[in-house]
Amino acid sequence: MKRVVYIQRADGQSTKHCRDGPEHNGRSTPAWVLSQMFPEATSSVKALVLKKPGEASVEMVPNPVAAPGELLLRVRMVGFCGSDLNSFCGRNPLVTFPRIPGHEVSATVIEGDSSLPAGTDVALSPYTNCGQCASCRRGRSNACQFNQTLGVQRDGALAEFVAMPREKLYPAKLTRKELCLVEPLTVGFHAVARGRIKADDTVAILGCGGVGLGAVAGSNARGARTICVDMDDEKLAVARAAGGSDAISTAKESLHDRLQELTEGRGPDVVIEAIGTPQTFRAAVEEVAFTGRVVYIGYAKEPVSYETRLFVQKELDILGSRNALPEDFRAVIHLLERKQFPVDQAVSLVVPFEEAANALRSWSENPASFKKIMVAVD
Ligand SMILES: [Zn+2]
Ligand SMILES: [Zn+2]
Repeated sequence: MKRVVYIQRADGQSTKHCRDGPEHNGRSTPAWVLSQMFPEATSSVKALVLKKPGEASVEMVPNPVAAPGELLLRVRMVGFCGSDLNSFCGRNPLVTFPRIPGHEVSATVIEGDSSLPAGTDVALSPYTNCGQCASCRRGRSNACQFNQTLGVQRDGALAEFVAMPREKLYPAKLTRKELCLVEPLTVGFHAVARGRIKADDTVAILGCGGVGLGAVAGSNARGARTICVDMDDEKLAVARAAGGSDAISTAKESLHDRLQELTEGRGPDVVIEAIGTPQTFRAAVEEVAFTGRVVYIGYAKEPVSYETRLFVQKELDILGSRNALPEDFRAVIHLLERKQFPVDQAVSLVVPFEEAANALRSWSENPASFKKIMVAVD
C-alpha cells in the first residue's frame, strides 16, 4: 500500500514523499523512522544532556540508528539513582561531558522482530560485555572487565528514542514504574545470588537504599529471614514492606546488640553490605556468623582497614557483587509480576521530561529527601 508523508526540510519547505509499508502513516510516523526512510530529512530527538558538573538541559540530539542486532525503542520512563546523581555532580571519574544519563528504563519496541514485536514493553540491561575477558569467558558477563554502562561510559537512555541490542531487552507485562525498577532491583538480587542465600539463612542487609532494597526483596523471595539495617526510619519502613522480617535503626540502636539478640548470639549467616563506608565494610565482617558469607555491593570511596584475623578465624566467604546477570533480571520481573514489591512506596517522585534537570538539582541539594525519582519521557 502506498503511504504518503510530509517532511519539513531544513529550508522550511514541506515536501511530499511516498513509501510502501504497512506500519507508518504521515501523521504519526516518528522522527527517527522518517530519517531512516528519507535520510535527506533533518530530524532529531529530545534528550537530557549533562553539560558539565551541576548543569543539565533537555536538548535535541541526532536520531538513534539501530545497528544490526539492535531494535529501536520509544522510551517511556527513566529512573534516576545515586550513580546518576554522582554523574550530574561530576563525582564519577568514568563520566565525561557532555553525557546523556539514564540506565533504569521502561520502553516500548517500535520496530521489532518476530520474537519481540512492535508494541512490546521492555526493561533493559544497561551493561555491555566484551565476550573475551576472564569474566566473560567464565559466563559472568555482569563483571566484564570492559563493561560500559549506559549513561556512564556511553550515552544513556534519557531520550525519546534509543536503539538497543536485542539480547539486552527483557519483555514484561509491568507498569512503567515497575519496568524502571527492574534494573536497580537486579543489583540486589545478584548480591543475594552471590551470597547463595537459602530459606534457612538469617541475612542482614546493611543499607536499605535502592540497591539494599533489592537485596531485601531478593533475600525474602528465597525465604530467608531478612534483617534490614539503616539509619533512616522511612527507608526501613519500605524495606519491611519489601519483605524485611526485622528492622534495626542504627540511629537509635546498637547494631551489634540487636543482631546478637535476633540470632541467639551467633550473628547472621549472611551479611550484605550496600552502603560503601569503612564502618559498614568492617561491620559486615565483625557481625557475620562464623563460617558465614559477606557480600559487598557498596562501592567504598576510600581505603578500609580490617582486622583480617576475622577472615581466617571465622573462615569467611567474602564476595564482591557487581551489576547483574540475565537470570537476575528474570527473577526480578517474576517478583514484580506477582506484585510482591511496594512500588509506590519505593518511588518518591515522578517528574515530566522538562523537569528532569530541576529534579537532579533539587536532589543534589537535598540528597536525603528523595528515595527514587523517575522521569516520564512519554
Ligand atoms: Zn542505577
Ligand atoms: Zn568481558
